[in-house]
Amino acid sequence: MRNRLLTLIAFAFIALSLSGGAQAADQADGKLKAVASFSILGDMVKNVGGDRVEVSTLVGPNGDAHLFSPTPADAKMLAGADIFFVNGLGFEGWMERLENASGFTGALVVTSGGVMPITMEEDDHHHEAEAADERGHVEHEAAEDHDADQIADPHAWQNLYNGEIYVRNIRDGLIAVDPEGKETYEANAETYLAAIEAEDKAVRAAIAKLPESRRKIITSHDAFGYFGNAYGLEIIAPTASTESEASAQDVAKIIRQIREEHIPAVFLENVTDRRLLDRIASETGAKVGGTLYSDALSDKDGPAPTYLDMFKHNVGALTAALSS
Ligand code: ZN
Repeated sequence: MRNRLLTLIAFAFIALSLSGGAQAADQADGKLKAVASFSILGDMVKNVGGDRVEVSTLVGPNGDAHLFSPTPADAKMLAGADIFFVNGLGFEGWMERLENASGFTGALVVTSGGVMPITMEEDDHHHEAEAADERGHVEHEAAEDHDADQIADPHAWQNLYNGEIYVRNIRDGLIAVDPEGKETYEANAETYLAAIEAEDKAVRAAIAKLPESRRKIITSHDAFGYFGNAYGLEIIAPTASTESEASAQDVAKIIRQIREEHIPAVFLENVTDRRLLDRIASETGAKVGGTLYSDALSDKDGPAPTYLDMFKHNVGALTAALSS
């Protein structure tokens, strides 16, 4: 990075004549320019990149990446980036279009690479082209049998063990484009990985205290499959995606399930509409256990401004609602 900067300064005249000086001016602070597709990933990249990296995020706090539609300004931001971090597993259905529109030529890092994907039922919420794309992606990533209506669940960050895989991929991606920062990225990643591991222990300890019969909740979209698998909670959602509306049949089925299985609480999410869950809660007498952060962080002043804060907040809400 420093060498590159020096080279840019040394050949400032050439750079100016070739590119009108825009690139040289952009790089004047010497920081690597990273773009993350959504807020949770942006926080992870900040933790690993530290002072060497300037991080911009496409889908910000409380934003819904499922419904995101990139603007020309987003394409411009990506065009100026050195490295682009995405979740993968079909989460960013809009990614290829954006990449093509922007003419991005930097490094692309799929942070979920190496995660063992779980599957979820596909809603008919996606545009046809995107659904086909996602299926192709699944076949490519995990060469295993699956029904046509099963797709990879993209919400892998909801298991902290997977979060550690993301962090290692981020670290390696940064080192690949900025080898001079290797020591910094390795040290930052090590500190961050230790914090994630500690949080993983804390989550396990908190869930273990809940009575087993109460470890069942309803959320509005199917974002907590990895969380439930990792930490031993049964999580039921009327829809797989924030883009689709639950059918009357889906809702009736959930209401029946809450009554039969005595599911104690339903949870809102920061990225979804609360009306459906309010209705389900009032029809069944299940309590509304608060808001879980699923696909996006809160803003700075909210309860979940970082990846680790998100877990602390979510587990706090779960234990408050389910312990008695
Ligand atoms: Zn989601």
